Amino acid sequence: MRGMMMSENQTFTEKFDLLGCIQCGRCTGGCPVTARSNLNIRRFVYDAYHEEALEELARLAEIWDCTACHTCAVRCPKGLKPLEVLIGLRTMVIESGKTQPTVRDALESVFREGNPWEKARATRCDWMEGLEVKIAQPDTAVENLFFVCCTIAYDPRVQVIAKNLVRLLNAAGVDYGFIDDGESCCGSEVYTLGEDGLFEMIVEDNTEFLNEFQAARIVTLSPHCFTTYNRHYPDLNKPVIHYTQLLAELLDQGRLTWEGGLEKKIVFHDPCYLGKQGGIYDEPRRVLQEIKGAKLLEFGRARERSLCCEGGGGKMWVETESKKERLAETRIKDAKALGAEIVAVACPFCLLTLEDAVKSLGFEEEMRVAEIMELLGELGGGN
Ligand code: SF4
Ligand code: SF4
Repeated sequence: MRGMMMSENQTFTEKFDLLGCIQCGRCTGGCPVTARSNLNIRRFVYDAYHEEALEELARLAEIWDCTACHTCAVRCPKGLKPLEVLIGLRTMVIESGKTQPTVRDALESVFREGNPWEKARATRCDWMEGLEVKIAQPDTAVENLFFVCCTIAYDPRVQVIAKNLVRLLNAAGVDYGFIDDGESCCGSEVYTLGEDGLFEMIVEDNTEFLNEFQAARIVTLSPHCFTTYNRHYPDLNKPVIHYTQLLAELLDQGRLTWEGGLEKKIVFHDPCYLGKQGGIYDEPRRVLQEIKGAKLLEFGRARERSLCCEGGGGKMWVETESKKERLAETRIKDAKALGAEIVAVACPFCLLTLEDAVKSLGFEEEMRVAEIMELLGELGGGN
């Protein structure tokens, strides 16, 4: 037992470069969930150095409060990724078999059906019904290979992102292909929930599957897939971009036009997985700026300082016990104070969490949350 702990401790110290930490506290200072949780990430980095503390640390409820927003990693002057210490501790819990039922079910669903939503693999493409969707064939060259994402494929509220994108691509004459029901979860949430073994298997399977397509690049609809492919798939043989990058490209080429306008004050909420983790800040704004009549506002906490919506890091399956205000509610209150009528997002999780906050705050009369593709669909372009 002790030998095992020692080797785990060495793994922790080496794997997460714990000796590099100077305990400056910049990680904790920037961590958004400290507003509603006892999570002190600096302290975890310090304590995890002590092998005998690992099992006890893994029992602390706050290891599940991290949203994997990456603010701590962005702020660390030593280039550490403090959140990965928490993911390592989650792995210990998963390996011990003491996983919460919601997490266990989501992970099992990814293993069995290729999505965390306990939906049948065979129904993954049901959202395409009634649309003219070009399906990519591995042996036919295509410029843009689209990867939809489990949440967008199955959740009726966010399917609009994919549907409107198809219409827009057809209208703009883009060379594209979507993947059929062979598409399988990118593993983003599996990784942050700490299921190492399953994640490794997913990376291997998806790499082999996606590498077979003769595509110039992969375009993801969700920032979570975008970041996961770019960070954790070293053997993928093509670049991966987010759909807002493609839209910005099409705008530059004069290939996107909209008939209508939107006389609204719009504020863009930077998704953590697109901004802080992917460095994509300008393209979504570039698209929104093209909407006639729209006035683009900015949050005080924008771009790399953007406030997390708490949708990532497996948080769709783990409820934080805190009764304090949810960050999504704080964000929506900030938007209201700015006078925004629309909070525009570019991520399915942000859409769900922020929209839920609008409802719980009773602001539905004054403002709405909308994904960029949802707004573009309403402008009459691409239909
Ligand atoms: S920001 Fe980096 S160096 Fe500073 S306490 Fe956190 S992990 Fe350590
Ligand atoms: S990833 Fe975000 S929520 Fe998690 S510890 Fe870092 S700053 Fe806090």
